[in-house]
Amino acid sequence: MVRTSTRLALLGGTPVRTRPFAVYNTIGAEERRAADEVLSSGVLSGFLGTWSDGFLGGPRVRDLEEAWADRFGVRHAISVNSATSGLYASVAAAGIGPGDEVIVSPYTMSASAVGVLLYGATPVFADIDPRTYCISPETIQQALSPRTRAIIAVDLFGHPADFDGIIEIARSKGLVVIEDAAQAPAAMYKRRWAGCLGDLGVFSLNFHKTIHCGEGGMVVTNDDRLAERVRLIRNHAEAVVKDAGVTDLKNLIGFNYRLSELHAAIAREQLRKLDRLVAGRVEGAEFLRERWAAIPGLAPAWVQPGCTHTYYVLAVQYDASVLGVPRRRFAEAVAAEGVPLTEGYVEPLYLQPIYQQRAFHCGPNCEQYKGQVSYSRGICPVAEEMYAERLFYTTLFQPGLTKDDLQDVATAVEKVASEVAKLRRGDEVMRP
Ligand SMILES: *Cc1c(COP(=O)(O)O)cnc(C)c1O
Repeated sequence: MVRTSTRLALLGGTPVRTRPFAVYNTIGAEERRAADEVLSSGVLSGFLGTWSDGFLGGPRVRDLEEAWADRFGVRHAISVNSATSGLYASVAAAGIGPGDEVIVSPYTMSASAVGVLLYGATPVFADIDPRTYCISPETIQQALSPRTRAIIAVDLFGHPADFDGIIEIARSKGLVVIEDAAQAPAAMYKRRWAGCLGDLGVFSLNFHKTIHCGEGGMVVTNDDRLAERVRLIRNHAEAVVKDAGVTDLKNLIGFNYRLSELHAAIAREQLRKLDRLVAGRVEGAEFLRERWAAIPGLAPAWVQPGCTHTYYVLAVQYDASVLGVPRRRFAEAVAAEGVPLTEGYVEPLYLQPIYQQRAFHCGPNCEQYKGQVSYSRGICPVAEEMYAERLFYTTLFQPGLTKDDLQDVATAVEKVASEVAKLRRGDEVMRP
């Protein structure tokens, strides 16, 4: 594409792009029809909080669960009303409690770690691998203690954590592994599906995820006992354990984590679209990845050999020592070209107020807790550096964007990188 001006928009030049980008929307006639059928039936949920046929939900919920289990080759798929609920139920099902430590990533959505606190245990943060942004066998090893009971590994940005090593540690120490695959449905790790690599796996069906039904989630496991416990916790466990003949009551205070028939019907249609939507994401993200890999100082998404990346977002590592300006300045200049970038992802969880002020009812404040966990700045330097200085990401490659849109996104970053010297303070000459 011919550009009349290379002058940066931030310095008064013509932006690469002025039109807004289309919003990702995967909801179509199929979802409308499915939702309409449920509405016409008048039965918007089939759940009953008693030990009865309704304990496992209505026909749409069961159909979705069966299809999900088939799609991912797992014994049990248990729908829930969010991945957050699914993570909490998984921690509970695993029998985690006061005095226990659970190793978790600090660089993830906050809910990945909160289940641990909710059940009175202590999150111990392991640093991330600078290539995958996931916790790794090496960093987990450093976080182990005699109190470690479980590991929650997150497949961040759509790339699986390095599970072989994680499982090996877990097996040798008798730990439960929970996989937070909210961002990675259909990603692969050595011919196995992300989400199905640990003892329990959790997917999200919230509006922002690859497929969605507004709000929703799925827990998967091959373990019959864990599956039963998740089903109980999803649906008022305390009210049914007697009739169900369940005797191990640890953590079996239940919730209403149930998915409605309406949501299940929509999610069922979305699941049919999963492979096509992922293929579209991969195509778009790889187009940008190839263009930006050629730019000194930028390192877009690494894919571990044997894995596939499903690009919930395309993360790029920014090296200010090569580009000569801070990430903030670079991102401002790209935004001025009409292409917003998101900087940093989330602040490492332990730096957030709830951890800094140790505002927990139990966890490390409990008398059962014999360890000395630290939430000080510096405990996970890689996550801190990614957040503060190095990482930016975009989702402007999603299905629904055109080839021209992708060109503009790629070009905006290239243009700023090639003119970056002009952004160094002092060289800057604003147009009068
Ligand atoms: C979105 C997300 C969640 C929470 O999903 P909900 O369905 O909104 O509860 C948990 N973990 C990660 C990594 C996520 O990206």
